[in-house]
Amino acid sequence: MKTLIVYAHPEPRSLNGSLKDVAVSTLAAAGHEVRVSDLYAMNWKAVVDAADFGGCATSPLRVIPSSGGAYDAGALTPDVTGEQEKLLWADTVIFQFPLWWYTMPAILKGWVDRVFSFHFAYGVGVHDETRYGERFGEGTLLGRRAMLSVTVGGPQLHYTDRGINGPIEDLLFPIHHGILYYPGMEVLPPFVSYGADRMSDGEFEDAAKRWRERLLTLETTAPIAFRRQNSGDYEIPSLRLKEGLETPGRRGFGLHVRD
Ligand SMILES: Cc1cc2nc3c(=O)[nH]c(=O)nc-3n(C[C@H](O)[C@H](O)[C@H](O)COP(=O)(O)OP(=O)(O)OC[C@H]3O[C@@H](n4cnc5c(N)ncnc54)[C@H](O)[C@@H]3O)c2cc1C
Repeated sequence: MKTLIVYAHPEPRSLNGSLKDVAVSTLAAAGHEVRVSDLYAMNWKAVVDAADFGGCATSPLRVIPSSGGAYDAGALTPDVTGEQEKLLWADTVIFQFPLWWYTMPAILKGWVDRVFSFHFAYGVGVHDETRYGERFGEGTLLGRRAMLSVTVGGPQLHYTDRGINGPIEDLLFPIHHGILYYPGMEVLPPFVSYGADRMSDGEFEDAAKRWRERLLTLETTAPIAFRRQNSGDYEIPSLRLKEGLETPGRRGFGLHVRD
């Protein structure tokens, strides 16, 4: 495997830093190639602005056409094109981050905002009466697998069906479906470390063991069975799921996962 690890934590000695180190050493020992984008160490610029698009920035700035124009002209900044090149190199992409306010840290969201540019990650393919572009199961990153490794302060029960935070699958749906599946990646079930703020050394060893097991079975792990946009499950152009495809009673984000 060629694995890219996108890692977002400001402290190398953190739990997230340790889990990232476990991933690097485990994958390398198994003979896989590993590259790491350590966003804090890279001093990653997390905000989109006109400077991202060079001479292709429109005035007034409109981000989408500027982004697509700069991508087409090869005028995106080197930090962004470097990350796009890493994504194209990889067959597996792991994101290691703490859950902050129910989602990824801002620096990682800013990586997505800038690296997933127009014509690279979205605005790809023909949009007509029968197809609505290449996305959700098609797209530039087709053939790659992605997985989140997330540390979570709260205990697991708080993230279950009736838990106060809502199910973890729901909280992660915007990342899994809206960011990773959108440009074509298959999404593996996440590796979630709960109760992260109170993790003892012994609990860390247990978590690290489970993490190694997940890492060594990445190639055979079944992805989340998201429905493909252009597979016939959705009406086009309304992009509503056709009636009756789901198990009775299924609602919400779960509608977009095949049974
Ligand atoms: C802004 C913000 C928003 C947040 N929002 C949420 C939220 O919405 N929901 C939620 O549930 N939680 C939330 N949290 C909590 C957050 O998810 C946790 O603080 C985070 O996941 C812990 O990961 P860490 O790498 O920062 O841990 P660290 O603080 O680095 O470590 C956590 C514990 O692991 C121990 N540990 C044991 N072994 C090791 C080892 N080998 N290496 C490193 N550490 C080890 C450390 O000693 C420490 O006690 C939030 C926190 C912040 C700061």
